[in-house]
Amino acid sequence: MALRFFSSRLVNKIKAFESVEGFFDALCGMVFSNLYSSRFLMFLFCLSATFAKGQKWTCSSPLDIPLELAGSFAEIRSNHFHSGMDLRTEQREGLPVYCAADGYVSRIKISPNGYGKAIYVTHPEGYVTVYAHLQKFNHEIDSLLRLQHKLKESYEVDWYLKEGQIPLKRGQQIAWSGNSGGSSGPHLHFEVRDSRTEHCLDPMRFGLPVRDTLAPIFELFSAWCGYGASELSPSELPSIGHFVNGRGASDTLPLEIETGKLEVAVSIVDRYITGSGDCGVKSLRVFVDGSLFYRMEIRSVNFNTTKAINGFVPLGIYKSKSGQWYRCSSPKQTPLKEEVNIWAMPVEILDSLIHSIRFETEDWKGNVATAVGFVQAVLPNAPKRSNAISLLAGVEKVIQTRSGKITFQKESLFDDTELLLLEPVFDSLMPPVVEIGHEGIALFSPVKIQFNLDEMTPEQRKKVVVLHLNSSKRKSIGGTIEGNSIVASTSSLGIFTYAADWAAPVVEFVEQTFPETDLVGSVKFRVSDALSGIESVRPELDGKWIYYEYDAKNNNVLVELPLSLVDEQAHEFSLVVKDKCGNETVYKKTFN
Ligand SMILES: [Zn+2]
Repeated sequence: MALRFFSSRLVNKIKAFESVEGFFDALCGMVFSNLYSSRFLMFLFCLSATFAKGQKWTCSSPLDIPLELAGSFAEIRSNHFHSGMDLRTEQREGLPVYCAADGYVSRIKISPNGYGKAIYVTHPEGYVTVYAHLQKFNHEIDSLLRLQHKLKESYEVDWYLKEGQIPLKRGQQIAWSGNSGGSSGPHLHFEVRDSRTEHCLDPMRFGLPVRDTLAPIFELFSAWCGYGASELSPSELPSIGHFVNGRGASDTLPLEIETGKLEVAVSIVDRYITGSGDCGVKSLRVFVDGSLFYRMEIRSVNFNTTKAINGFVPLGIYKSKSGQWYRCSSPKQTPLKEEVNIWAMPVEILDSLIHSIRFETEDWKGNVATAVGFVQAVLPNAPKRSNAISLLAGVEKVIQTRSGKITFQKESLFDDTELLLLEPVFDSLMPPVVEIGHEGIALFSPVKIQFNLDEMTPEQRKKVVVLHLNSSKRKSIGGTIEGNSIVASTSSLGIFTYAADWAAPVVEFVEQTFPETDLVGSVKFRVSDALSGIESVRPELDGKWIYYEYDAKNNNVLVELPLSLVDEQAHEFSLVVKDKCGNETVYKKTFN
């Protein structure tokens, strides 16, 4: 019995070693056929030692509070798979953040958006841990970083460090938690990457102590026929059904669909413990009338392919309904390879019988859930649109418009797609408007929107930006001047036009704290630009750059006032803020 116990423990160990594909199956066979062979025991012993070495690396908690999740690894987000775990920080900033294992600081990236203040620690075992949205760094890191800011004369820094510059021990405090960059509330974004591939991995694989006692819950499902999952319009959604006690559609009646190639989508919420954030799942299997229809398993998140999320979700539904929506079919082309394993078997519904759809899912801890829904093809098929443009996935296509052209690159579409092109004329004196498809059409590589600016002088062209108009919002997507035209890239379709930005950014003084004997002061501004957006911020004191922080989501610029101000002299302060069209505002002040 002892022997059996030893074997099963080893098997468990190897099972946890997820990167060895198929190895587990092979070994299981060997375990049973060689259970009592001493040579095999020797082999197991050596292997156990090897794996113990490969497996030894674990990460400890970067916070000293019980870990609670606001978001999970690989969760579905807008335009990306979430690359790490969002750890709650008691809804406040300033909690100590600790290094998760021995290593060294290999990169520090500071940005007004995205990760905000982030630190990357390389561990010799082949992993990198990332800590993002920080408030500030420990004293040693901060003083070295200040030199980088000064060298670059910029708040934005992307600094790569060598081994030995800042070595770290497991459990050493490296920073304080914050809400910097694109973060929408105080939390710590924590990531584990394979240092060779740069792919992000589930931190729980490395022993991060996160409690997960709850199974995922199936919320809604949708089914339809006649058009692809990456051309669903957010304003014309297919039938959507509720799961009742994990079983059946609304009122347990079948969901009404059309006949044709079956498309299915499902929304699932996974909570780790009661009260944790709504998280995503690891795998999903879908069976139609008992036969496997779709299977996916997420293994890693790769920044180069993360936008493939748009072909992984039913984009039109995802854009208009909340929740983690999973598309249950394989795109015709997707860059996802080892990151997400997708398998699908197309099914056609040609009769009006009731068909069952069974869903099975597993979260990152291994908690499982199942649900069943039903569909019945009783709806008439929508007539084909005669004026639609047909585009093929994997083929470049240039569409000429009255005002320029639209270019779909080879990798723009996940699926063959039909879309409409409209060029309404509201006022012949206004810039032209082009409507191409809608925001439910899934894109991987951007589509290029080009407008001719023949009537303009080169000086006028420099002030032009392309605008994406989305339900009452207008957003600049910039653009570059190519000859007599402007070309902008978009990752989402819809309505486009252009406008000229002649207005300089707005700079408003908010408050000021003058430095005192040994305490630096600060002056705070609100900066904004109505059209093209802020390009750069530069504060100077007596003609020299001084340190500042820029928080783009709150439009705040905080300039540090150095102790050198504390004298009887007059000091000239200026803040120059430029927008992306070269307009600038200079704020000046004399400190006495
Ligand atoms: Zn995050």
